[in-house]
Amino acid sequence: MELKQQMGPFCQSCGMPLEKPEDFGTGSHGFRINDYCRYCFQGGAFTDPKITMKETIDKCVGIMVRQGIMPEEQSRALMNEVIPRLKRWQQE
Ligand SMILES: [Zn+2]
Repeated sequence: MELKQQMGPFCQSCGMPLEKPEDFGTGSHGFRINDYCRYCFQGGAFTDPKITMKETIDKCVGIMVRQGIMPEEQSRALMNEVIPRLKRWQQE
């Protein structure tokens, strides 16, 4: 299976590709921010500020499996690669 080459940007929390304007999160004044998706970041704050990197990986794997993007083992391997490199998790 070949992964679509995404030129980015990606959400810097969950790795979701940000393609459409409505995919982006919003800052405290409601304007678009470029680093995070709307599922992770809304109104200037993380929607789930206590989530850990491991929980984020589990959540993304669940979504990919449910949406039939790839099987669990494969998506877990990919997320273990991608998620730790994202900006949100760099300081952990
Ligand atoms: Zn996200």
